[in-house]
Amino acid sequence: MKYYILFGPPGAGKGTQATAIVEKYNLRHISTGELLRKEIAAGSELGLRAKSLIDAGALVPDEVVEGMIESEFNTVKGVAGFLLDGFPRTTAQAEALDKILAKTGETVTSVVSIMIPDEMIKERIRHRATIEGRADDAKEETIDNRIKTYHEKTEPLVEYYRAQGKYREIDGTGTIDQVRTNVFTLMDSLNG
Ligand code: ADP
Repeated sequence: MKYYILFGPPGAGKGTQATAIVEKYNLRHISTGELLRKEIAAGSELGLRAKSLIDAGALVPDEVVEGMIESEFNTVKGVAGFLLDGFPRTTAQAEALDKILAKTGETVTSVVSIMIPDEMIKERIRHRATIEGRADDAKEETIDNRIKTYHEKTEPLVEYYRAQGKYREIDGTGTIDQVRTNVFTLMDSLNG
């Protein structure tokens, strides 16, 4: 099984690109953000606890998302692999992922990072707010906190995976089509 990580700051376009990637490479898309929003919509206890953290631009506890990921790995069959979107987001989550995969003798295949500058993060999220109506896209303060959380907690993962020779970065500032072409070229070279 292939285990790809789609990396990048909030608003980089991970979700948009993920849809095309999973189709082309027969992967299952796992977005922890989406899974959490489903819990919120369902009004589950987990969703209720997650909502206030998400709306504040903070992260939900590592154990919560780690459990979600492991259960997806264990239940989804018939795919060539997984495309993780929004996970891991902390060094502890990356270490937990390594441990989960080690149970079946597997490892992370590659990290595909879509990079955009901070100013563009805000522009993209403001634009998405008018389309998707996500609560965590609505407030400037929440967006600022997410950018801060990204730099503090998530960006260190670049070094974590670079040290393993698994980190690949592409420019996310182009159009959706341009970025998709670059992602496909990169992934073809990884598979070739
Ligand atoms: P974005 O595209 O803005 O990065 P996501 O849909 O990936 O948004 O995530 C939305 C929110 O869900 C995050 O700001 C965070 O609060 C929570 N979340 C998602 N994935 C994780 C994770 N791996 N660990 C902790 N919190 C997470």
